[in-house]
Amino acid sequence: MLRPLIAGNWKMHTDINHGAKLVEKLRELVGASEDVEVLIAPPTTSIHHLHFLVAGSPIKLAAQNIHWETEGAYTGEITAEMAHAAGCEYVIIGHSERRAYFGETDEWVHKKLIAAVRGGLKPIVCLGESLEEREAGKALEVIATQLKGALKTLAMGVLKDLVIAYEPVWAIGTGKTASPDEAEEVHAAIREQLYDMLGTEAKVVRIIYGGSVKAANIDELMGKPNIDGALVGGASLKPEDFARIVNFEKS
Ligand code: PEP
Repeated sequence: MLRPLIAGNWKMHTDINHGAKLVEKLRELVGASEDVEVLIAPPTTSIHHLHFLVAGSPIKLAAQNIHWETEGAYTGEITAEMAHAAGCEYVIIGHSERRAYFGETDEWVHKKLIAAVRGGLKPIVCLGESLEEREAGKALEVIATQLKGALKTLAMGVLKDLVIAYEPVWAIGTGKTASPDEAEEVHAAIREQLYDMLGTEAKVVRIIYGGSVKAANIDELMGKPNIDGALVGGASLKPEDFARIVNFEKS
């Protein structure tokens, strides 16, 4: 069994002071959780400060985005190396909000994946179909294309810390969750494709689910064999809710 990963995506919420208060509360609530890996992705402006506040706790930090270049005239962007130096261990790549609002393509996701590895960050690559695509029966096809586009010919040696997040776009921030069976079907298909592309060593790749995860549905989701954790948006801003998600009980 893989060590579950519960990651909170704070998106464009919280300034440094608010973030510090959330971390203080989370430190109390998640305690010394050894069984589950706990991660938060705060806005870039808070990362370095929070890096000091999570020290000595099991809470790790992720960047919400990086650029693929090592430096240059890319106003508003940061490199993988900058995120790493600021205290990040992980980076979220290809979130559906970045794909929808900032024109992120599979090609960019691929370049960012290479940059993450280069910069010492563990990549969390997000995949997800829209409602129209699901209703047209194309969910698995869309996910397969996104996964192929992200990984291309990269080998397991490079991808040893890879995490995949399956996040159906229609379930993000909408209160609608994929049913555990719907999520499991896609996770199992991703697992199979990872084996095809990377060989059996891909068994270490965690596939986490995102899309309106909350205290009320985490236990059932985590009861599925191919769901190795969760990427949590809204509920990660409420420390009690997030701690309950971290302390899930499989059902
Ligand atoms: C997300 O942003 O990755 C997400 C899953 O958001 P929410 O939990 O709010 O649906």
